Amino acid sequence: MQSAESGKKGTTCKAELLDGAAIAQQIKREVAQEVTQLSLEYQVRPCLAAVRVGDDPASAVYVRNKIRASEEVGIRSEHHALPATTTAIELLDLIASLNTRGDVDGILVQLPLPREIEEARIIEAIDPDKDVDGFHPVNIGRLSMGRPTFVPCTPAGIIELLDRSKIPISGANACVVGRSQIVGRPMAQLLLQRDATVTICHSRTRDLAAVTRQAEILVVAIGRPGFIEREHIKPGATVIDVGMNKITDETTARRLFGAEADKRLETISKRGYTLVGDVNPAEADEVAGRRTPVPGGVGLLTVAMLMRNTVKAARQRRGLR
Ligand code: NAP
Repeated sequence: MQSAESGKKGTTCKAELLDGAAIAQQIKREVAQEVTQLSLEYQVRPCLAAVRVGDDPASAVYVRNKIRASEEVGIRSEHHALPATTTAIELLDLIASLNTRGDVDGILVQLPLPREIEEARIIEAIDPDKDVDGFHPVNIGRLSMGRPTFVPCTPAGIIELLDRSKIPISGANACVVGRSQIVGRPMAQLLLQRDATVTICHSRTRDLAAVTRQAEILVVAIGRPGFIEREHIKPGATVIDVGMNKITDETTARRLFGAEADKRLETISKRGYTLVGDVNPAEADEVAGRRTPVPGGVGLLTVAMLMRNTVKAARQRRGLR
């Protein structure tokens, strides 16, 4: 394993990159085997219903990726793409019908929803046994009690990444920056369940760098391109970058990628943007022991864990172990 040299500027030693893409592939292969086994032993084929409202291009891409991953692992999928004019009542009707259908195992409603529709009301309408995103209050409650449940896919994927990369969690100082319902909070719960000593930071945290610098495992989910820099990172720490931000300008690309900015600049000129995380990779590489890249880190794990949750729902609903 390549190790980072403590905080020295200009060192040739770089943080090891954790390969989220390879681990996501591994998880999907395992899920595909389980799907085959379910079909051979019980003639069951898990089914995921994805619901999307409106024309948000990012949401369309996310749902398409989930449908594609379902096909890859042998899960049947349905894509309910509703117009932006859909009312809350119409959406609730669709969810009610998916809840009662015996052939549907998992329901996911792609967020964000149009502003006129209250997201909490929709999520709470999903049958908790089909809530493969793990966002229903019943599942969040179970998670916070340390009971078995559907765990939100991004933090669940991060735990898999840490485990499969043999990074010890028990007893480690872990810091989660960001307290969203979908990443920060469940991430902190999972790390706590695994006996880490957990600190949660947010926009009101005083002297953020002094807190994050204590962490052996630092998970960042704030939605600010390259915000976490050298001063935030403990030498040798494992840095998990959840952020997924588009940048379009040369100055930011150079600040984040230093000598390796050229490839990113090429992407910007071709596509109009490049995807970056919440961590400044050039600076993190000088201090961290390991880090996840963006893209190619956490994002792919999220979809793989959704597949795993769908198979879990299919088993549980039929009382199969
Ligand atoms: P979110 O709902 O946008 O919330 C952001 C969180 O970051 C809030 O808790 C906020 O604090 C905190 N924050 C903002 N600025 C901060 C600062 N300067 N210092 C410390 N904390 C700060 O977050 P999210 O939905 O979890 O998304 C975060 C990022 O992860 C985004 O880039 C998103 O695209 C990405 N994401 C990626 C995946 C994936 O699969 N890779 C999945 C989900 C999200 P307050 O609570 O005090 O406002």
